[in-house]
Amino acid sequence: MGSAPLSEAIKSILDWSMTEGHTTTTPAKAGELFGSLVFNDKAQQERLPKPAYRALRATITRGETLDLATADAVATALKDWAVEHGATHYTHWFQPMTGITAEKHDSFLAPTADGGAIAEFRGKELIKGEPDASSFPSGGMRSTFEARGYTAWDPTSPPWLNVNGNSVTLVIPTAFVSWTGEALDKKTPLLRSMEAVSKQAIRVLKLFGSTAERVFATCGPEQEYFLIDRNFYFARPDLINAGRTLFGAKPPKGQELEDQYFGAIPERVLAFMAEAEFELFKVGVPVKTRHNEVAPSQYEIAPVFENANVAVDHQMMTMETLKKVASKYGLACLLHEKPFAGVNGSGKHNNWSLSDEFGNNLLGPGDTPHDNMQFLVFCAAVLRAVDRWQGLLRASIASAGNDHRLGANEAPPAILSVFLGDQLTDIFEQLEKGNAKSTKQGGTMDLGVGVLPKLPRDAGDRNRTSPFAFTGNKFEFRAVGSNQSIAVPNMVLNVAMADALDSVANELEGALAKGEDLSKAVAKLLTKMIKEHKRIVFNGNGYSAEWEKEAKKRGLLNLKNTVDALPQFVTPQAVKLLDRFKILNERETHARYEIFLENYNKTVNIEGQLMVLMANRYILPAAFEYQKHLGQSVAAVKAGGGASVQGKKLLAQYTKLADKFKVQSDILCNLLDHHNGGTAEKHAKYMRDKVVPAMAALREIGDAIEVLTPHGVWPLPTYREMLFIK
Ligand code: ADP
Ligand code: MG
Repeated sequence: MGSAPLSEAIKSILDWSMTEGHTTTTPAKAGELFGSLVFNDKAQQERLPKPAYRALRATITRGETLDLATADAVATALKDWAVEHGATHYTHWFQPMTGITAEKHDSFLAPTADGGAIAEFRGKELIKGEPDASSFPSGGMRSTFEARGYTAWDPTSPPWLNVNGNSVTLVIPTAFVSWTGEALDKKTPLLRSMEAVSKQAIRVLKLFGSTAERVFATCGPEQEYFLIDRNFYFARPDLINAGRTLFGAKPPKGQELEDQYFGAIPERVLAFMAEAEFELFKVGVPVKTRHNEVAPSQYEIAPVFENANVAVDHQMMTMETLKKVASKYGLACLLHEKPFAGVNGSGKHNNWSLSDEFGNNLLGPGDTPHDNMQFLVFCAAVLRAVDRWQGLLRASIASAGNDHRLGANEAPPAILSVFLGDQLTDIFEQLEKGNAKSTKQGGTMDLGVGVLPKLPRDAGDRNRTSPFAFTGNKFEFRAVGSNQSIAVPNMVLNVAMADALDSVANELEGALAKGEDLSKAVAKLLTKMIKEHKRIVFNGNGYSAEWEKEAKKRGLLNLKNTVDALPQFVTPQAVKLLDRFKILNERETHARYEIFLENYNKTVNIEGQLMVLMANRYILPAAFEYQKHLGQSVAAVKAGGGASVQGKKLLAQYTKLADKFKVQSDILCNLLDHHNGGTAEKHAKYMRDKVVPAMAALREIGDAIEVLTPHGVWPLPTYREMLFIK
């Protein structure tokens, strides 16, 4: 019993060889291959007629609508390019509310009158597709009679080729909307939010004399993940169906020695990373960084930042590629926020900033007082955005998976706050007093005529405990879960920032209209903003109990779990905000709330069911077997005239645990059977308050049984095996 998957795993690990036809590459080759499977600017320029190329660029850079003539020209060039590269099919790739991506493949081939077939692809097929929308969650937005939805090409994200063994498919990134124009996906609102933040940022930039016409939110997401041998993975029903272990006792050696972080990467893992990067390079994902993470068998991959909507697509592609390539190396990639209890979980650090069309980073301190004045205004606007919309930001990263991580003393707390670093905090403190003169760095600071101290690019102290940290030239939203799409958090960041910049622009425009001097108006506004929003700034230890108390005093929200956090989407203010900036109308917002709740309910339900299944089919049979064995042993000793005091004691202890386990498993089973329906919200509360604690109780007993059960009898790979045998 049980030893089969283990010996298979160990055998595959020992037999694994670097030389078996795995891809190797050199920097030169990688450079050459970057984007080779993407219909990128270079390919567009080479293949499109000049007018079509210019029209497409105008769409991409200025958001102008694509006319059908251009679409036809692009479609023809795109099809020829794809077919030359061996493509037979195309797909409209989209990001439904389920959290993963979806695609439906269509052939390029169309029958001809003479019974043959020709490759055909027109503008209307490029810009519009019609998947059956009825099986994707719509949060009640759509009744079945209007089940149709369509996908629309997002020209700002270039199409690419998905090469998969013997098939090549042209992938067209799209937005997914209903026939009434309502957003059914995560991308549409993100694109709308890019527009909104651009518009408001431009208003502010104009006041500083900028000629920029567009601003882009930029994003560089750092992905954490675990890799374990696939044999272990397939021997764990919980990993297969829930993405995390639902049972598993803590190993004797965990991450206490901290000997993994930035340590040498094992050979097989390194080979996996190289190939995953290679694959991502070809489809234009600019991956750059790789390293070990804190926990055993935990790693990280990070790209160079890009425009947020492209970064979101590339992030989804990164997750898909990691999983796909892992299996080629006999590994399983775990993207769940908390695959192993008691071991650090995984997050996704969402680095975010704003940049104008000339590539100027608006959250990077400049070299001149004028630049710095503008920088401080944008920075203060971030404080306003996070302070005003802390609830919405918290909701944007809420999920059943992330609940295991946030606030668990290894990940950011569930309280949103901003880490600014000593120097910037000092400058803001001076500004708050209104007549800022000297700073800690000794420079004088007078916004109009003096010189701001030159701010270093790197803010020094990284403060790993902050959920939202300034890191020298960008903010890092660190509370995002490893398994989540970054579309929603970026959408919320953008709209929160649009709102903050809108108010900044209003005030400054008003002051200038009254004839006030810009630097005076800015100084006045900054003083006011800092007074209003300084409560959100916290540079201390976010894991400490004192911070929780202090945050409460400051009136900051502390939404500890998904069910507490999600209603922040539908507060009257949030609904109004999303509507005002044309991101989501009230119906669309409520639909999302429903879908997120349903996601939570489904996830907890699946996990609960799995625990019952594992109890009945794995753990109890093993426990009863060992119990029988113990009983026989005690009886044998007794028959031989002995006492077996300790054996009897162990048998009693073990029997008690097994009984308790069975009782608790039945309790959980009953709870899962007997929830009384009602609204998704009511159900979610039931899941949180009744089911989740019952699962925790069952796990505790199960883990206690595990540590008493012999190696050959325990039917599941253990934490020690999964995390340390590689
Ligand atoms: P680390 O945080 O690990 O020290 P970096 O600061 O170099 O590493 O960058 C982390 C991530 O932040 C990378 O993906 C990087 O591309 C991204 N990043 C850097 N500048 C920006 C920016 N202006 N906007 C968005 N993301 C950025
Ligand atoms: Mg970082």
